[in-house]
Amino acid sequence: MESTDFLIVGCGPAGGTAAREAARQGVATVVLERDAVVGAKRVCAAGLRPGFCEEFDLPRSIVHLDPPTITLSTVKKTYAFTVGPAHTTTREELDGTIGDLARREGAEIRTGALFRTLRRERDGIVVEYADAAAGTRRTIRARSVFLAQGSSARLDDVDARFRHAGWSAGLITCLQYRIYPERPAAPAAYATLEMHYYRSPFSGRNVIAWMFPKRDHLSIGLGIQAKVPGAELRAEQGAFLATVERRLFPGIPYTVREEGNLLYGGLPRTTIGADGVLVGGTAAGLVDATTGEGIHEAATTGRLAAEAVAQSHAGRVRDAAPGYERAVQRRFYGRLRRRHRLMTFLERRPARFDVLFRQLEETPRFATMLQSDRDAFGPLDRMYLYAQAAKFSLSALYA
Ligand SMILES: Cc1cc2nc3c(=O)[nH]c(=O)nc-3n(C[C@H](O)[C@H](O)[C@H](O)COP(=O)(O)OP(=O)(O)OC[C@H]3O[C@@H](n4cnc5c(N)ncnc54)[C@H](O)[C@@H]3O)c2cc1C
Repeated sequence: MESTDFLIVGCGPAGGTAAREAARQGVATVVLERDAVVGAKRVCAAGLRPGFCEEFDLPRSIVHLDPPTITLSTVKKTYAFTVGPAHTTTREELDGTIGDLARREGAEIRTGALFRTLRRERDGIVVEYADAAAGTRRTIRARSVFLAQGSSARLDDVDARFRHAGWSAGLITCLQYRIYPERPAAPAAYATLEMHYYRSPFSGRNVIAWMFPKRDHLSIGLGIQAKVPGAELRAEQGAFLATVERRLFPGIPYTVREEGNLLYGGLPRTTIGADGVLVGGTAAGLVDATTGEGIHEAATTGRLAAEAVAQSHAGRVRDAAPGYERAVQRRFYGRLRRRHRLMTFLERRPARFDVLFRQLEETPRFATMLQSDRDAFGPLDRMYLYAQAAKFSLSALYA
């Protein structure tokens, strides 16, 4: 049977980064990607946090725009914040570039390869997948496996230890339009990342919507944490689009490309490493419940997976999984669990969004700290954070 050191499922930011960085460290790496072209079918607003390209050594050519402002809007008001600046791109460019760089380091990326299942044997993990081009099932043996197949990752059948009771309830139905205006939109459109939080006047459901500008188009979309019928989603999206169009491109003809996908917005999986198998990115549940951001978390888990697998490859640890799991949990779980609790609290009474956004606008230090991971805080920072959190909780109770 064919064999490799490191087998990765999925070539999104998690899988692609893991492949690039593991191959760079001399680990024989194979990636299975179900799509025919890496990144071509990803539906995403593709906003990147400040410094992302530098942190992951990616060329600036993938960046479309550097909006210096983010606005958070409720039905009452729009609150504006300065960001570092953030960046926008497309997933064709982001995932495609990471994939190319991984190949250059020596990783083999097999497209049209649909992961089916895996089983553990005495001399490794045997992964079974469908080869779309050949129309056959194939197997490959690996010492370590990284599962990074995004929101489609129902891992119950793969390993009972990865079971996550809240997985289905955490899925968010998203619809996004790429709007290509025939003339440039208002200048404000290209300087701002817009996030909108409201309760739908049609269905009463909580909606998160966005407008992220790109070089040649605007990504305008929304997500609802439930299974939502297509007609309802389109009506919701039509109403939101009309409000953005009135402000940013009134009277300008445009064409539309419609895209839909699931995002995961629940709590992280409890177990993400077991006997040589590591789970990363969205498959591990590492998406920020308040913003839907997860590219940075995904790429970071790819990096941590590559480091853990390189350690195992060099014989420094027997199994890459436990060290990987500890590192990811330490880095992300505190913040993502806090974000999930916060979102649940806000959505129960949407007037609370205004209380939070007003406080963030008045205290930029609090806004910055909410974005940071626990490791970044000293004792004084923690006291400040708790005091701000207490102030918010008290004000929000009366909202
Ligand atoms: C509408 C929308 C807007 C978003 N906007 C943002 C944003 O602006 N900024 C941000 O940071 N995050 C955003 N996100 C979240 C972001 O897309 C995810 O956090 C990120 O893609 C996670 O990367 P990943 O590598 O874990 O998984 P993915 O990017 O989902 O990649 C998984 C890969 O695995 C492949 N795959 C799946 N199943 C199999 C299989 N069985 N066999 C082989 N391959 C398989 C897929 O084809 C895909 O290439 C958004 C998500 C959505 C849906």
